[in-house]
Amino acid sequence: MGIINEDVNSLASRLERGGISFANKSVLITGGGGFVGSWICDVLLNQSAKVICVDNFSSGQKENIQHLLDKENFKLVNHDISHPIVFDEKIDLVLHLASRASPFEFSQFPIQILKANTLGTWVALGIARAKNARLLYASTSEIYGDPDPKYVPTPETYNGNVNPVGPRSCYDEAKRAGEAFVVAYMIQHGLDARIVRIFNTYGPRMRPGDLYGRVVPRFIDQAINNQPLTVFGDGSQTRSFTYVTDLVDGILRTAYSPSAEGEVINLGNNIETTIIDLAKNIKNVTKSESEIIFLPLPEDDPKRRCPDVSKANNILDWKPVTGLQSGLKKTISWFIGKN
Ligand code: NAD
Ligand code: UDP
Repeated sequence: MGIINEDVNSLASRLERGGISFANKSVLITGGGGFVGSWICDVLLNQSAKVICVDNFSSGQKENIQHLLDKENFKLVNHDISHPIVFDEKIDLVLHLASRASPFEFSQFPIQILKANTLGTWVALGIARAKNARLLYASTSEIYGDPDPKYVPTPETYNGNVNPVGPRSCYDEAKRAGEAFVVAYMIQHGLDARIVRIFNTYGPRMRPGDLYGRVVPRFIDQAINNQPLTVFGDGSQTRSFTYVTDLVDGILRTAYSPSAEGEVINLGNNIETTIIDLAKNIKNVTKSESEIIFLPLPEDDPKRRCPDVSKANNILDWKPVTGLQSGLKKTISWFIGKN
């Protein structure tokens, strides 16, 4: 059995052991063809949910969900969620994940990113309202911007330090507006909604390459192809890397749990790693001879990111369980198998 199947089976059972099952629920997921979304589709189908996946494949890949296309409980709708769409079928839950998420895309597609998180969130909320469904919105740690070090690890109560006109603002500010849309629907229409703020997540199915690549798939791709590992700045900036099954576990717990109604919840690993250490680690695990080179740090690149996850722990009984070493090994094996 492949790495993804093993992880999906084990997560579906872990959730069921915790009393969390989506069996017979009808779930609409926007961005279901992407990295995180396709893992969610797999786990939901494993639990016998009905899944409607809405994606325009701007940054997602058909191969992520190819194996699901002939399943009776799976429906793919190729659509840009920033435009209205009507569904005839019953929908119990809307998971709104559609958005490009890589900093390399911020300069290429800022308008689409803004639209997916503002107009797209409005469309997703409209669907949830029309169907009397619950909604979960995938926000991001980026809404904290470059946090004051006093607030690292960062709790949900920190309001952030975002540059509204910088190169990352199409993403940060769009996610902040998306959160405001969700809150407005809760206030004005009494919608049952939840917001998760996702911190850097990695795992199989991430795209490498210049346009879509986040740091983990880029370093892995560079290491296994004997290319230099490109550290931006001096590599002292930190991120806290979450393995994808831990994130999906947190997302599905948030979507399921009655006590998460109306809440904003950080989901991420709370162990900070510097980018230079990540590069050395990946070089080590891949046994690569690649050199590490230093390139200019992008403007507004946050210096530190680490979540306070005590709220997720209290409300959802959730904590990340996959260490960086183990998650990197699985991700690297998957990338090598694909190469
Ligand atoms: P991804 O790019 O792999 O997936 C996003 C999916 O959304 C893709 O399949 C893309 O084709 C689709 N999409 C984009 N715009 C769309 C639109 N207008 N209409 C329909 N589909 C559209 O990215 P991901 O890493 O899987 O991220 C999923 C969500 O999680 C995003 O909302 C992202 O902002 C959020 N998030 C991810 C991370 C992370 O580390 N991966 C961190 C914070 C937040
Ligand atoms: N980074 C890097 N080299 C790369 C790509 C990214 O040093 O080839 C750094 C980037 O500057 C940031 C961190 O790695 O400090 C995480 O980048 P990523 O694009 O994964 O996500 P971000 O957290 O910035 O949204």
